[in-house]
Amino acid sequence: MRRDRQGGTRLSSVTGRLDGVLQCIWAVRLLSAGRDFWSLVFPTECAACTLPTVSLCPECRAQVRKATVRPFRADGGAQALPAAEGCDGGSGDPTVIGALPVTAAGHYRGTVARVLLSYKNHRRTDVGRPLQAALAGALQTAVHEVREGGELGELLLVPVPTRGASVRRRGYDPLGLLLAGLGRRGELPAGCRVDALVVYHGPLKGRPSALPGGTGPVSQKGLGGSQRRINVHASMALATGRQLPPGTLCLVVDDVLTTGATIAEVTRVLRHAGAAVAGAVVVAATPAPSRAR
Ligand SMILES: [Zn+2]
Repeated sequence: MRRDRQGGTRLSSVTGRLDGVLQCIWAVRLLSAGRDFWSLVFPTECAACTLPTVSLCPECRAQVRKATVRPFRADGGAQALPAAEGCDGGSGDPTVIGALPVTAAGHYRGTVARVLLSYKNHRRTDVGRPLQAALAGALQTAVHEVREGGELGELLLVPVPTRGASVRRRGYDPLGLLLAGLGRRGELPAGCRVDALVVYHGPLKGRPSALPGGTGPVSQKGLGGSQRRINVHASMALATGRQLPPGTLCLVVDDVLTTGATIAEVTRVLRHAGAAVAGAVVVAATPAPSRAR
């Protein structure tokens, strides 16, 4: 009897342990499924260094902050920029009389470049906040300079438009999202408002193109300075039904400055509509492809 009792006790102990193991396996499975679901909804690695964490790890966040805390003039290396407002003397040659001033929060390299790429191309909108902070700083600097020049009226912040196909592919407009966040938080400089005045008007039928494979603008990625200028020229227009009071003061806003061809096209449209373009502001500036080589 005693042996039976002992056997029964041993059996129930084994069954108990088995139950425990099974429960453990189910718990692990449940946890794993939960983790998979969580990682779908919330990113689980740093957008810059892939360290397991949510969003940006503290070190990368600090690096982005350090690299974007002192905005600087970035128009020196961008050959396709238009002339500065009111000083082209009709020549239209920015190399002689000074290019449109561009203020950048940081250089497009290292952690800043990785975070921007993740944000723009890998749907990591969770890292928008540090980029917003960088853009806000550059906007404050640029607006301060405009005000020091004696321009005290309202300033329109005109974003470089995003192509409809890019928005559909990504599911969001990266630059629009940054500016909307700043507007919501009340972090735009005083006396400024965002106005998406300029739009792409799509492929132009019959427009001669020096680029292979088409007549409409394609992505600027991988193109050289002159190709970028040709690619984007006359590709934009004022949004339908919009008019501007003469002399409306504008700043063009973009995420990355490369050659300045896109900023030049937005400036062309705005000036043609009678606006005065005081400068441009970008999150990061990269050397033009020819210089980078
Ligand atoms: Zn990191």
